[in-house]
Parts: sequence; structure tokens; C-alpha cells
Amino acid sequence: MTSQLAGGPLVQLTGVNKWFGELHVLQDIDLSIDRGEVVVVIGPSGSGKSTLCRTINRLESIQQGEIRIDGEKLPEEGKALARLRSDVGMVFQSFNLFAHKTILENVTLAPTRVRRQGKGQAEARARELLERVGVAHQADKYPAQLSGGQQQRVAIARALAMDPKVILFDEPTSALDPEMINEVLDVMTSLAREGMTMVVVTHEMGFARRAANRVVFMDGGRIVEAADPETFFTAPRSDRARDFLSKIL
Ligand code: ADP
Ligand code: MG
Repeated sequence: MTSQLAGGPLVQLTGVNKWFGELHVLQDIDLSIDRGEVVVVIGPSGSGKSTLCRTINRLESIQQGEIRIDGEKLPEEGKALARLRSDVGMVFQSFNLFAHKTILENVTLAPTRVRRQGKGQAEARARELLERVGVAHQADKYPAQLSGGQQQRVAIARALAMDPKVILFDEPTSALDPEMINEVLDVMTSLAREGMTMVVVTHEMGFARRAANRVVFMDGGRIVEAADPETFFTAPRSDRARDFLSKIL
């Protein structure tokens, strides 16, 4: 209850190590994210970006280290995990909407089941959020009737419906046709401006420059470099970051 007032970072990873069998996929990760901060994570394919996101909300377990959300250590399992996990929203590359539920139902499902909100309250809030991401008029349709960009905006509304403390975005625009990328990035940019705490894995460097407080560059399971976007893009310190940027910019 005091967590709203608590100081300290909202997300804190300390000495995190994770292996998939022999593969040391996250190596000595220390990362501290403040309230309202927007952290963009970039790095080559296979560098551990998705795994990092998935460990933050415990879709993946870690073998060493500690993850705290708003000061509370992430539990291994059970009710406490469900509660802490619902503080961490997630938006995936592939939208992951429920195909057989309407857009409105997709947004109200978790609040009614996990948060035990009444149907009326959940629907009112869902309509408000759908309005905010610009798809209010699609509320009664099914996901397949919407464009990719619209579906991803619904996925963002669905995450917001749980009032998360932080939202993780894992390459949210990578599966979209080019003309739909900006409508999703625009929603994310306004969220960032409104003070949402966000971790965003993306190759959209325009978004990083516009919205990020910090860019974290990963390679081989490590955080190789972290800096504000201006510094990172104009004067990357490591050869690996320079090499990566030369390929994507
Ligand atoms: P990125 O998102 O940066 O592309 P990932 O976090 O998806 O990287 O993957 C990091 C490494 O871990 C890759 O070598 C990938 O093949 C491996 N990996 C990811 N998920 C699994 C898994 N469930 N089992 C085994 N290896 C995995
Ligand atoms: Mg990935």
C-alpha cells in the first residue's frame, strides 16, 4: 500500500543470470528502472532481449540474482506471483489477442477475472482505453477483422486495463506492415509522455530518440552499454554497438 509512495527504482535487476541448458543467455544483468522512465533495449538477434523481458514478469525463471518490482522481490509462484505479474504489462510482437473473443472482451477479460472488477466497470474502462488508442469503433469486432496495427493498439489497451506499473514491449511493430508502424509508435509515444514506465525492445531508432530516457545495448546476453539516446547514437563507446548501429541506421 505504501508502494505508491516508496522511493527507489520501480524495476530492479541485480546480478541476474539465466541459462537455457548450456546456453548462458543472461549474464550478470544489473538494470535499474525508475518510475516514469522509458528504456529502449536494442541489440542483435539472439542477444537475450526477449528473455530479459520474459524474466521481468517471470514468464521465464532465473537461476541467479534477484528481480524486484516496486521494491518487492518476484516470488517463484502462486498468488503473490500472479499479483506482481499483473503489475507488469506485456505487449508482444504477435499481438496474442484471443481470436474467439471480441475486442471489448479481450480488454475486459483480465480485469474481471484477475482483478475481480464488475462487468460494467470493466467495460466502461475498456471503452475509454479503446478510445485512447483509437479503436473504440471496433469494440464489437473480432481480432481477425482488424488490421495488424489496430490489433496491436488493442493489445496495448488490454495491457493498460490492468493498470500496470510498467509495460514491457517486445518488438511491438516488427510484425506490422510499414504503413501501420507509426500508428502504434504514436500510441507508445503518448504513453511515454504521460509518464508510463516502459521497457521497449525495438529497432525503431526514431522512437528511441523521441521517447527513450535511456538506450540499453545488449550483445551475447550482456548489457554492453547504456546511455541516453543522444549520447548512444552519436558516440557509442563499444565497437559492438558501433558495428550494430552501422548495420541498422
Ligand atoms: P533476442 O530477443 O535478443 O533475439 P532471445 O532472448 O529470444 O534473443 O534469445 C536469446 C538466446 O536464447 C538465443 O540464442 C535463443 O536461441 C535462446 N533461447 C531463447 N528462448 C529459448 C528457449 N525457450 N530454450 C532454449 N533457448 C532459447
Ligand atoms: Mg526477441
